[in-house]
Amino acid sequence: MTTLQGLFRPKTVEEAASLLAQDGEAKLLAGGATLVAMLNAHVIEPAALISLAGIDEIKGISVLDDGRVRIGAFTRHRETAGCTLQLGHAAVVRHAASQIANATVRNMGTIGGSISFADPGLDYPPALVAAGAEIEIASVQGRRTLGAAEFFVDWYLTALEPGELVTAVLLPRPDRGAGVYIKHARVAGDYATASVAACLLEDGRMRVAVGACGPTPLADAEADAILSGDRSDEAIARAGRLLVQHADPLDDVRGSADYRCLLIPRLLLRAVRGAEAAPRSAE
Ligand SMILES: Cc1cc2nc3c(=O)[nH]c(=O)nc-3n(C[C@H](O)[C@H](O)[C@H](O)COP(=O)(O)OP(=O)(O)OC[C@H]3O[C@@H](n4cnc5c(N)ncnc54)[C@H](O)[C@@H]3O)c2cc1C
Repeated sequence: MTTLQGLFRPKTVEEAASLLAQDGEAKLLAGGATLVAMLNAHVIEPAALISLAGIDEIKGISVLDDGRVRIGAFTRHRETAGCTLQLGHAAVVRHAASQIANATVRNMGTIGGSISFADPGLDYPPALVAAGAEIEIASVQGRRTLGAAEFFVDWYLTALEPGELVTAVLLPRPDRGAGVYIKHARVAGDYATASVAACLLEDGRMRVAVGACGPTPLADAEADAILSGDRSDEAIARAGRLLVQHADPLDDVRGSADYRCLLIPRLLLRAVRGAEAAPRSAE
């Protein structure tokens, strides 16, 4: 394997994948919000950076022929937050984007850079899991897609193999559902202490995912089944207890594990009621 040096500016996904295949130590550079801070702090010192800024194919939001919505990996959080397309229950992803940090970070960070870093406190991961989104991945071998729930593997670890990059996030074809993301942070602009994404699907099913309370977004089929059949306060509390049982939160500067477990049922109630009250988008 050759070792690259310097800054590379590929114009296509194939060129970027080929550079990655040549040097497994090279780092992809997207918005740079996290990567540049890590370079400045000498946490990482790669000899080569592969900038994704020149690849048009991974920029912006579009509707595919089958109705799914494609968010290119190099789409900034600001653009996702301001997307005017009908998204149905996947509107939860737009809602999450609008709550990321502050305007400066939303202008800089990209959805591909965010989910590839896989910090458990990020806002997109629970929203993508609740929405049933897929992640499009490329390498010199070609393209593959993976469900969001399979993409997030562990603390700061994704299912990306060496030589792979994220090229897009695919949202399901918009339905007449609604989706809401509720985030609790110590102060405005901070990462989540805990969060809940709730999607009410057109057929009445409810899908929820908890963020910042374990290595990966926490979803539970039993909790979803309860919330799909009964959304009384008692049923929501029962689903909340199930989620707490499966949570694996850390004690850290953003809150103790116990505090996070207390937050889950409260955020769940707000998210479920929010999704019920949110306007349904027509197809
Ligand atoms: C001060 C501050 C506050 C923040 N607060 C929040 C918050 O409240 N909520 C939240 O969700 N996020 C928050 N973030 C994270 C931010 O939103 C970005 O998501 C994050 O910085 C990474 O996105 P980026 O595009 O800047 O990626 P970069 O910093 O360029 O890259 C991040 C990592 O992903 C890799 N990478 C980049 N693109 C790809 C790709 N397409 N495929 C594979 N690997 C790739 C890079 O090699 C690097 O390892 C915050 C960041 C900062 C600096």
